[in-house]
Amino acid sequence: MTAFPDITPDLKSRMPGLRGRLTANQTLDPFTWFRVGGPAQVLFVPENFDDLAYFLQNLPDDIPLTVIGAASNMIVRDGGVPGAVVRMGRGFNEATIQDGYRVMAGSAMLDVMVARAAQKASIAGLAFLSGIPGTIGGALRMNAGAYGGETKDVLIEAYGLDRQGNARTYGNAEMGFSYRHSGIPDDVIFTGALLQGRAGNPEEIAAEMAEIKAKREASQPRNRTGGSTFKNPPGQNAWKLIDEAGMRGHSVGGAQVSELHCNFLINLGNATAADIETLGETVRARVKAHSGIELEWEIKRIGIGRKS
Ligand SMILES: Cc1cc2nc3c(=O)[nH]c(=O)nc-3n(C[C@H](O)[C@H](O)[C@H](O)COP(=O)(O)OP(=O)(O)OC[C@H]3O[C@@H](n4cnc5c(N)ncnc54)[C@H](O)[C@@H]3O)c2cc1C
Repeated sequence: MTAFPDITPDLKSRMPGLRGRLTANQTLDPFTWFRVGGPAQVLFVPENFDDLAYFLQNLPDDIPLTVIGAASNMIVRDGGVPGAVVRMGRGFNEATIQDGYRVMAGSAMLDVMVARAAQKASIAGLAFLSGIPGTIGGALRMNAGAYGGETKDVLIEAYGLDRQGNARTYGNAEMGFSYRHSGIPDDVIFTGALLQGRAGNPEEIAAEMAEIKAKREASQPRNRTGGSTFKNPPGQNAWKLIDEAGMRGHSVGGAQVSELHCNFLINLGNATAADIETLGETVRARVKAHSGIELEWEIKRIGIGRKS
């Protein structure tokens, strides 16, 4: 594996007060759902909000910045990610219940944990989050949704830091939400969200969550995948277009179009990121040739291909 030049000594000398962990050439594959991808030039796991603000305030402008949550909707390319990759972790991992059936959730919290906290507090309306394997930060960026609920339906406001390290608050209308998209600039890092639920019965919410879990287990692979690969084109289902183009089960290297759900790609065990991305592009080309429809990637692809 080719390593990036180590920029941690320079960053550490610019940021003597930094508290979070800074690691050079940290491989990212263990952190991703696909279990593929090269290293981050430098991985930063901030201790808390102030630590992240300090990092951003002192990060030179010419160093690219990328943020990852649970990497459940992401391909990290094999050549790794130049610049700084921020991985949200402890310090952003708390949910508190507020009056008026509201939940304040840190952006590193897994959606399912937020759904569980709401259920315990008899708050309905957030159960849909239990089926989405990402974090709240990823849900804000992707306007994640399932089973009739979307992040935009429950968000009061989101909190974040911009590239310069300034604290920002975005009301729901400012988020620029559309299908699996938020209009907030890519270099804003979300740190938390205030979510609105409604009064509910804990047993009924638990039953709803159990039903979501059972449906998911029956219809989707839950291992070494990135979830829905392509957005559903208006009025169409991506999985159906892929199936009709004859791509169910098609493979490239160690990557395969899931037999269970055609819009999911899976790593059979030894796939590279290039296998997965090439398979995705092959699917797009076949669907275009078959139906004339151009599928748009929902999965975020970050980093650079391996140099040959
Ligand atoms: C088995 C499976 C099932 C899935 N089912 C669904 C589903 O039903 N509905 C659905 O919507 N999605 C689904 N997904 C996709 C995925 O879980 C969601 O998109 C999720 O919201 C991504 O969150 P994440 O923390 O994993 O984000 P990542 O994959 O880490 O990142 C996704 C994007 O969000 C950005 N991001 C992450 N954290 C932050 C942050 N703190 N601040 C700013 N930007 C950030 C990243 O930079 C990237 O652009 C599924 C995935 C899998 C593997």
